[in-house]
Amino acid sequence: MSGRIEALRRTADVVHVFGHRGARGVYAENTMTGFQYAIDIGLDAIEVDVLASRDGVAVLTHNPRLWRDITRDMRGDWLVKDGPLVRNLSFHGLQSYDVGGIRPGSAYAALFPEQTGMPGLRIPSLADLCDLIAPLPEFWLNIEIKSFAADPLATASPEELTAMTLRPLREFGLEERTVVQSFDWRVLRAFRVAAPQVARSYLTQIRHGREPVGANIFPNSPWLDGLALSPADGALPQAVADLGGQVWCPYFGDVTEQDVTRAHDLGLLVNVWTVNEVPDFHRMVDIGVDGIITDYPVRAQQVLAGRGLRWRHDAPMPSVAPH
Ligand code: MG
Repeated sequence: MSGRIEALRRTADVVHVFGHRGARGVYAENTMTGFQYAIDIGLDAIEVDVLASRDGVAVLTHNPRLWRDITRDMRGDWLVKDGPLVRNLSFHGLQSYDVGGIRPGSAYAALFPEQTGMPGLRIPSLADLCDLIAPLPEFWLNIEIKSFAADPLATASPEELTAMTLRPLREFGLEERTVVQSFDWRVLRAFRVAAPQVARSYLTQIRHGREPVGANIFPNSPWLDGLALSPADGALPQAVADLGGQVWCPYFGDVTEQDVTRAHDLGLLVNVWTVNEVPDFHRMVDIGVDGIITDYPVRAQQVLAGRGLRWRHDAPMPSVAPH
């Protein structure tokens, strides 16, 4: 067990809030502007997505291809279709794209109507983010490694992604306040081998019938590194514990109070993704989760403050940053 991860465990008056992709509801996802905002409103953790460039730089972006709905070219024109694979572009080449907003009129834009577009933002490297948070001794990175077990050539291999991610974490001395997570549990095995001191978080999403798309828990799933796993009877937290993980990170709609209790009995932390609506924040607090990943961290702070709770141990009691 990685000792420092206990700093993220829920206490009587603290439930941790992780800004999802920085703070996607407010600023462009996976950008330095969003990360700085998360720091400014007093969070102690953010979630970001990591892929690797052709020249081995860990970069912060979600989709394996440059996604047309959030990407403009160097002239400022929206991509007409999804662009190249991130893995096929150099870091320098990636810097010629603008990821400072969402294509107006797209379905994605309708999901985040409050997001402030800021043209000119670039895809950051993980090292850029490490440089930002290294001076903040209580701040945590929750790094999601994007690897697609069902489409393994879309990214570098789990071992390569692990090595490229570890390089800046080691350079900036952040291994002890990083949680690495993935839906592709092959990545977590690679991390366990290469850096057992880095806390690991096992992402799950249960397929309920045909929905939701993106599930990794279903019969014969390629995402589970060869494990045969059904969600019944507490099998998910048990599997995380058996694999030596520290955190179970289920989709919030999948998880019950019984699941959280089971995970806690196994010594795990439970963080849930991605919670954005007020009633859902309340339910997650009620069932006892340790951390909430959200696109709207101020909304989460307001819910917590309304219940006499805080989002970090040294936060003023209770106070909500203006937005
Ligand atoms: Mg993510």
